Amino acid sequence: MTPPSPAVTPSSPVLAVRRVSRRYGDVPALDDVSLTIHEGEFVAIVGPSGSGKSTLLNIMGTLDRATDGTVELAGHDVAALTDRQVSTLRSRHLGFVFQQFHLTDGLSATENVTTGLLYGGVPRRRRRPMAREALAQVGLAHREHHLPHQLSGGERQRVAVARALVNRPALVLADEPTGALDTANGQAVLKLLTDLHSQGTTIAVITHDRNIAGLLPRRLEILDGRLVADTALEPLDAQP
Ligand code: ADP
Repeated sequence: MTPPSPAVTPSSPVLAVRRVSRRYGDVPALDDVSLTIHEGEFVAIVGPSGSGKSTLLNIMGTLDRATDGTVELAGHDVAALTDRQVSTLRSRHLGFVFQQFHLTDGLSATENVTTGLLYGGVPRRRRRPMAREALAQVGLAHREHHLPHQLSGGERQRVAVARALVNRPALVLADEPTGALDTANGQAVLKLLTDLHSQGTTIAVITHDRNIAGLLPRRLEILDGRLVADTALEPLDAQP
């Protein structure tokens, strides 16, 4: 089976979510949400705990499927693809950063970063050089042989950011990336994301920190599973 090929052009959105709902039994975790993310954006997704932010991020990240509505990643309608094709699409176009880092204990920083390349069809001999390059990009070239327990929390999260970046994804999705860090390390990770954005990386970040959200160019506000505000130019009721 031929894996889906990249289909992003400068004019097409990296990600389009149209009228998406997600129910867990009778619980409507997401209700009729539409949004598009274009190349080069830096988007904050905000809202109180339980409002549906993680559910939205999981659907945007193709880790979960919508009950209703469509999700298009890099021009591909996710619903039309098999799970295997979705995995390929995800590994080629998306990078993930989670609150709890999710590094593997027995692996060095470089080896942890190479795990971001396992499903992307990158030849084995290319993986370490690419991982080292990504570690350098997050300022951790000097930590490449360190194990996770030899790193600070902030450094671990930077390794996780390097892993998310290593395949040069079209979109990085971050779920509360500063939530497990103290203020100084949280600010360092936020600065890293800001620097990466200014170098061209497209990023969507969930945060309940309004100070962080206030610094980002675009904010999506989720309340009770609904998108109640989007500071992007188009008015919400004009979206398809
Ligand atoms: P947030 O990320 O904003 O805290 P979530 O997306 O985690 O919110 O949750 C939104 C709603 O969906 C909540 O009411 C939550 O209890 C419910 N929910 C989330 N995941 C599940 C699940 N796997 N099964 C049942 N209910 C869920």
